[in-house]
Amino acid sequence: MQSYSLRDMVRVRCLACGREHDPSPRLITCNSCGGPLEIELDLSRISRASFLNVRSMWRYRPALPMGDLVEPVSLGEGATPLVRLRNLERIIGVGELYAKIEGTNPTGSFKDRGMSLAVSIASSSGYSEFIVASTGNTAASASAYGARAGKRVTVILPRGYVADGKLFQSILHGARIVYVDGSFDDALSKVLRDLSTSAKLYPLNSINPWRLEGQKTVSYEVAEDLREIDAVFLPVGNGGNIYAVYKGFTEAKSIGIVERVPRIFGVQARGSSPIYMGWSLGGRALESIDKPETVATAIRIGRPANWLKAFKAVRESRGFFIRVDDDDILASQKMLAKLEGIGCEPASAASLAGLIKLVDEGVIDRDLRFVVILTGHSLKDPAMR
Ligand SMILES: *Cc1c(COP(=O)(O)O)cnc(C)c1O
Ligand SMILES: [Zn+2]
Repeated sequence: MQSYSLRDMVRVRCLACGREHDPSPRLITCNSCGGPLEIELDLSRISRASFLNVRSMWRYRPALPMGDLVEPVSLGEGATPLVRLRNLERIIGVGELYAKIEGTNPTGSFKDRGMSLAVSIASSSGYSEFIVASTGNTAASASAYGARAGKRVTVILPRGYVADGKLFQSILHGARIVYVDGSFDDALSKVLRDLSTSAKLYPLNSINPWRLEGQKTVSYEVAEDLREIDAVFLPVGNGGNIYAVYKGFTEAKSIGIVERVPRIFGVQARGSSPIYMGWSLGGRALESIDKPETVATAIRIGRPANWLKAFKAVRESRGFFIRVDDDDILASQKMLAKLEGIGCEPASAASLAGLIKLVDEGVIDRDLRFVVILTGHSLKDPAMR
């Protein structure tokens, strides 16, 4: 087992109480208050010229919290297509619209970026067993990257609420599957209970701040492709990814790739919108929901663990949260498929539904450059609706 030090390159601070911690892959939440941790990297010596000439998210390795000793566990994640949607621009009536197609990642969702990084550093720290609660995509991704690293993976799933494609992937990659009766939130509670009884287990949920470091690379890619972006839309479940996207753009700005951080808009489904509701009530607390319901199963989460980080992302980028109906999510999924040839799962289409809603209500200027992040592949959830 090799050991390496993250101390020279990163600082870790609790977003809730401000306490600073010694950086280590073992560190997941604040050990004084349980709050979410933020990772701060020294980017002062990094420029665009520092990036590696490889076609995956590992292009951005100099901006990732990896010691030199760590060998990436990679399947070529990242480097996903950014496609201009000229047909939808005309129909919706907006200036420029691009889709970042994260469904082309190795297991079909953006989760692969985070898993590649988290599995890499945890494997290098000697962990041999991973555990994760999931609405499906996290499980599929953890199962694949765990298999690649030769580790045991246990996935905890809400019985009856995981889309077929995602469940199939976890089984195919050989994960141990445990069902809970209840929602994702109950599955996450089980993970936390299991963790407290075994120090050998490593958690791959998005409460893991290291995983989000991998996910931030999507913004580096969009930043390099477009240089100037006005607004980014993405679906929000637990709230980890919106923070990762925000962090990526903030870093891209400090490195000098973009001049400003785009406004970031988080989209939730009406029946599962605790973050939207908390935000609407002043943005100081979460409004948790006991029985979240939506066709967008990837964002069917009632007690989002990363709400504080999600609020920060939206507040500091001057965006806000939006809530859309399931019908509008499905209509957007069909528009992307029929008018642009792009297939995505329902949760992903919430991005476009959110953009259409803001533009229709006149809340945002039409003549801007928009990016919608399409988080997962259409085959993940092949139900006919
Ligand atoms: C995980 C996931 C989301 C939500 O991301 P969070 O970090 O939980 O907010 C959205 N869409 C898809 C397809 C996902 O798999
Ligand atoms: Zn704390």
